[in-house]
Amino acid sequence: MNKPDSKESNIPAPEFYDAHDSDNVCFLCGAPKYKHWREITHFGFPFTFQQCHCGIIKQTPMPNKQFFEWFFNSELFFSSKSSDSDKIWGFYDYFKDEPCRLATSRYRYKKFKNIFSTGKPLEILKIGPSTGTFLYVANQHHHHAIGCDVSTQFAKYAKDNYDVHIDTGRFEEMPYQDKQFDVIMLFNVIENIPNQTEFLSKVAEKLKPGGYFILNHVNIENNIIEKIQKNKYFLYRPPICYIYSTDVFDRVLNKFGFEIVHRYRDVRYLHLEKIFTLLGWPLPLKLSKLLKLHQIPFPIYAYPSSVTISKRIT
Ligand SMILES: [Zn+2]
Repeated sequence: MNKPDSKESNIPAPEFYDAHDSDNVCFLCGAPKYKHWREITHFGFPFTFQQCHCGIIKQTPMPNKQFFEWFFNSELFFSSKSSDSDKIWGFYDYFKDEPCRLATSRYRYKKFKNIFSTGKPLEILKIGPSTGTFLYVANQHHHHAIGCDVSTQFAKYAKDNYDVHIDTGRFEEMPYQDKQFDVIMLFNVIENIPNQTEFLSKVAEKLKPGGYFILNHVNIENNIIEKIQKNKYFLYRPPICYIYSTDVFDRVLNKFGFEIVHRYRDVRYLHLEKIFTLLGWPLPLKLSKLLKLHQIPFPIYAYPSSVTISKRIT
């Protein structure tokens, strides 16, 4: 693995950024005119978000593949992760949250019943399916759901625990057939994609005409939590490439041939141990442990994130 040139200052090397994608490019309006949005420094090196006059917000310059490989293997990432986890999330073993993920997947499946409960088995692809809980729930209802993820660890876990299939690699490079899927879905993924044009064009290509594209996004507009947390807001992290307001998000979907069908509040299940740790409430946390309620999943609205169901226009 390459190390950044300027080791002492932790500034990643220029080759970790896409020289062709900075404030000279806007994939949405094609007429870039950027102004400064946020300068972030709390990850040990400075990085910048700028906003185009069309509304889109992106990191400039844009991190490239080499950046992601470096960042996720760097001490910087592991140290910021562990210091964050002491203060914010506490100590969590990812797989320990499995009951919450399963409850969230069951909830989402029910929420999308107009699409999934027509009696016809559907071809479903979930990009970034994590441990495969949604694929499992969908297959229990006689659909054919598969995943696509860069992590081999998730693919193995999903196979061992739920007998579901996850292809390993980048979705954009997978040899899926054109118009193969009835539904393509992704959660907590869209903001991390550096080349949105390549990604969204591929989604449109691999969906059947009239097929559904389901995804969530965090709305940055009038975002109270962002206003309170400022530069510490969770979206201001090095792997976040794009940030959306709902209005811009809809224009992006329209541009790639999708029409918005429905929008929901993004409800997820969390257990009390995580909720109280997140809020920094030690007494309720102690009480919930005493009453053995701390591991029971509860539905919460992940403000201000929403789920959009869109349809590929024929
Ligand atoms: Zn623009």
